[in-house]
Amino acid sequence: MRFHRLALLALPFSAALAQQQPPAKVYTNADSIRGSNGRARAWWDATFYDLHVTVNPADSSIRGWNTIHYKALKQSPGIMQIDLQEPLDVDSIRQGSDYMTMHRDGNALMVILQSSQKTGENREITVYYHGKPRVARRAPWDGGFVWTADSLGRPWIATADEGLGASVYWPVKDYLADEPDSQRIAITLPDSLQDVSNGRLRSTKHNDNGTTTYEWFVTNPINTYNVEVNAGHYAHFSDEFAGEKGKLTLDFWPLDYHLDTAKVQFKQASSMLKCFEHWFGPYPWYSDGYKLIETPHLGMEHQSGVAYGNKYKNGYSGRDLSGTGEGMKWDFIIVHESAHEWWGNNITVKDHADMWVHESFANYAENLYAECQDGKQAGATYVIGSRRNIKNDEPIIPKYGVNAEGSGDMYYKGGAMLHMMRLIIGNDEKWRSVLRGIQSTFYHQTVTGKQVEDYINKNSGIDFSPVFEQYLRTTKVPVLEYKNSATQTLYRWNNVVDDFEMPVRANGRWLTPSSEWQTMAKTDSLIVEPDFYVEVKKVEP
Ligand SMILES: [Zn+2]
Repeated sequence: MRFHRLALLALPFSAALAQQQPPAKVYTNADSIRGSNGRARAWWDATFYDLHVTVNPADSSIRGWNTIHYKALKQSPGIMQIDLQEPLDVDSIRQGSDYMTMHRDGNALMVILQSSQKTGENREITVYYHGKPRVARRAPWDGGFVWTADSLGRPWIATADEGLGASVYWPVKDYLADEPDSQRIAITLPDSLQDVSNGRLRSTKHNDNGTTTYEWFVTNPINTYNVEVNAGHYAHFSDEFAGEKGKLTLDFWPLDYHLDTAKVQFKQASSMLKCFEHWFGPYPWYSDGYKLIETPHLGMEHQSGVAYGNKYKNGYSGRDLSGTGEGMKWDFIIVHESAHEWWGNNITVKDHADMWVHESFANYAENLYAECQDGKQAGATYVIGSRRNIKNDEPIIPKYGVNAEGSGDMYYKGGAMLHMMRLIIGNDEKWRSVLRGIQSTFYHQTVTGKQVEDYINKNSGIDFSPVFEQYLRTTKVPVLEYKNSATQTLYRWNNVVDDFEMPVRANGRWLTPSSEWQTMAKTDSLIVEPDFYVEVKKVEP
């Protein structure tokens, strides 16, 4: 999920608007500190986060601590960057018996190390903190804490911080390329509320001050923006899925008064898992289980605990993003956010600039799900219809190293690109083996977008480099130009990157246009099949 730009979807696509280039973005030093692997980060690797947070709905505050377990990868520069966003305050930072000093550089804590950190050594450091974390007013599109009430007026609390980052509410190395190998999430709440976080519930402890601590534990690497607090009046029911790796537990956490509705709607989780295991390989977190947790915001791909706020309706908030009817046959949030368990969570990009690996594949997964339910034409109809949401206002991939996220076209244009690649490969089993191969090759890893591109090129047997270049790094839509001579039709690509070659189906056959004119039997009208996201233009001879 991201959908920063989805709010604009209701606007008709305007070609004129698309031609306007936005002013170049200005990135600050703070963006670099946040988004790059700087010297105070690169020397250490987070191995385990032991997070404890007490949530106080009465004044929208939190208080807690995180013990960061880490391994020194190389000689430290004497400083350690830990991220904790303002306005949260640090109470103390301790390593062993040492109280550490630090200076704040915006949202980064630059901690002065007092003891040597030997290369290869495993160490711990604990940050104690408190304050009123940033309030999310438009979650999940902004980030922070959602403090709201359910329809019975009882407190309902959630977190969402994709993009903004986990450091909005806990101290962490807020850098996508470094995931802990496992994590504890211990959330303390007033007794009346129940917390549901990622992984499995290990213990529930009633404290003597009217609070209860829920200790959740994730046994796998987790991207930190997925670490969640969900507190409310939940009901719980379970199911099992017989999957590729055996028995997978399914746990569902609707609000108590939605239990019956959820028992119907959440049946889609099993058909989703069946479809995605077929196309992508085993669900990545058998040991942590699969969960859907009702949230006051629309949804987020929180690992092994998908946040669900689609109000038990099919479509995307009751709408069909494709405009074809296909998108109303299933629950967008169950399908899209769960697809991120493979694309985003199992393999996570190292830099937000490559977020297309999360969103293009999750969008493409929607069309595969439509296909699993209703056949190949349904999937194609959905992906073709969804192209109406493409804006071509900015390239999908922005600047690296500054936590920039790329354009909203990473959804529909990225999905359209993947759909074309499947057709060009022309062998569904090979395409499936490529998708599954990405998942198994980079299992539980962080990746660059380039690694994924290279994998597809190598294992599909087709060099898609110019296709990636065109669709991910420019806003130009390829134009298939054609013109007639006395005896022939000539055709070529225009509005394309250098050396652009992409086969395309037109008039019932494959063409392999390049930037040079090629010839075919004369036709008055060249019609490209709708699966291809290109334009066609007849030009004067
Ligand atoms: Zn998404």
